[in-house]
Amino acid sequence: AKSAGGNRFELADPEADARAITRHGLTTALPTALDRGEFFIEYQPLVNLDDGSVRGAEALVRWLHPQHGVLGPDRFIPLAEHTGLIVPLGRWVLEQSVRQARQWRERHDEATAGPLRINVNLSPCQLTHPGLVQDTVEILQAAGVDPDALCLEVTESALIGADDDLLKPLRRLAEMGVDIALDDFGTGYSNLANLRRLPVSVLKLDRSFTQSMQQFPADPVDLKIVEGIVSLAHSLDLAVTVEGVETGAQAEQLRILGCDTAQGWYYARPGPPDRLHELALVDATG
Ligand code: C2E
Ligand code: CA
Ligand code: CA
Ligand code: CA
Repeated sequence: AKSAGGNRFELADPEADARAITRHGLTTALPTALDRGEFFIEYQPLVNLDDGSVRGAEALVRWLHPQHGVLGPDRFIPLAEHTGLIVPLGRWVLEQSVRQARQWRERHDEATAGPLRINVNLSPCQLTHPGLVQDTVEILQAAGVDPDALCLEVTESALIGADDDLLKPLRRLAEMGVDIALDDFGTGYSNLANLRRLPVSVLKLDRSFTQSMQQFPADPVDLKIVEGIVSLAHSLDLAVTVEGVETGAQAEQLRILGCDTAQGWYYARPGPPDRLHELALVDATG
């Protein structure tokens, strides 16, 4: 929506003009950025809501741009999707993250309750790319990581109205043991009955629900919605993860509502891989 009518305003609005130039500059710089090693990954812990223990982490990509500094994914993922770079970039993120998961495992296999899991975001463009399943299998095998330790996050909107061709690669990955999470769940107006058709094992509740748990008492309609989603999810054998948890009050409210896993600044901001190691270790040794 932001880009609608953009050309008309760019002449009159110097800021929009600068944004357009940056966008153009970023698009031009993207293809070489991967070769130059300008991308890096931060990891944000996923914790068990019942006891606060670290269960794994979500991989979040960043671009250390030589002129603009660190850019968040919202600045360049859409461009990468538009130019097709998302396929090699996404593969790189997957490879790095899976290798990282292997290192975490080696470093505290015995200290933690179970192996740390790794969540990786998948763009809709990667879903339609024919190499997805094979790439994933090869990456897991090369790193010696079990498919059970990997969760691929796909947005709800990417799967709305998905036909069988789109679901086939996800089904194959799910059969291998890879978890599929439905990201930003609750924003896409998908038919809830449709969930049964999708090879997903995790619902990742959108941050907007977490935000509404901040007020006390929380919006009664939102409470009912989350309650309904959790009970439906559990009846379908799906786990519920909540994101954007910023306060203890939110965490407590969501725990009471029966959510399983949480992620957010209240626990930790996204950070370097060693940070996750420390958090998981502290947590395991008390
Ligand atoms: P997402 O998958 O919904 O990721 C969660 C976003 O919420 C992240 O933003 C994270 O830093 C932020 N976040 C975490 N905890 C909190 C909190 O307590 N409060 C608030 N306000 N925000 C929190 P980030 O890192 O900027 O990523 C934005 C989006 O970019 C992601 O949203 C995801 O859709 C996309 N993305 C990130 N990495 C990748 C990637 O490797 N591939 C693809 N295709 N997309 C990616
Ligand atoms: Ca995600
Ligand atoms: Ca999300
Ligand atoms: Ca529970």
